[in-house]
Amino acid sequence: MEERILRTTELIKRLGKLYPDARAELDHTTAFELLVGSILAAQNTDANVNKVTPVLFRKYRGPQDLAAADPAELEKDIYTCGFFRQKAKTLIALSQKLVDDFGGELPRTMDEMLSLPGVGRKTANVVLGEAMGVAAGIVVDTHNIRLSHLLGLSNEKAADKIERDLMQIVPKKHWIKFGQWITWHGRRVCIARRPKCGECVLADICPSRQVE
Ligand code: SF4
Repeated sequence: MEERILRTTELIKRLGKLYPDARAELDHTTAFELLVGSILAAQNTDANVNKVTPVLFRKYRGPQDLAAADPAELEKDIYTCGFFRQKAKTLIALSQKLVDDFGGELPRTMDEMLSLPGVGRKTANVVLGEAMGVAAGIVVDTHNIRLSHLLGLSNEKAADKIERDLMQIVPKKHWIKFGQWITWHGRRVCIARRPKCGECVLADICPSRQVE
């Protein structure tokens, strides 16, 4: 535990310096837009979703518009994001719940976010942290799962258990940024099939570094 905390302290220092502008890479201007983008990004890429959302957000300006959307029309609007039928259903259902139970506003607690259809801890953490500044947990996406193992921060397999481990070793003031730093590092340097250990600022403290 002691060693994991020391390693975590060091990587916070280094990744914070390397990625001072780390943020969610889904384009958005409101918390609701980030929530919609996160739902659309499941099994897809942020870049692909960013091609769809400018038109989508002009057409549906908030939960009220999406709650009243015609399912077939919405399916067409988000067709290129994949799983479009399920995603359209989810977007309409969660918008209806926002309108019915939350006055059309996004809630600010984890429990309330998790009550929305289609919203799990990862999406809730992204929206609460990035768009609302609420540190309710740490985003654990595919990059965070992989890097938590590689960096020896958690041995758990399930995302919620990894998040619990990380919350014990990352100071709360860094919870929001930590998830973003790790995601950025996983996308840019510690890439799944070809980690660039020779360029990595964490190489000397990473138990999984490969000599290139
Ligand atoms: S040293 Fe290699 S395996 Fe470790 S975090 Fe960096 S890129 Fe990933």
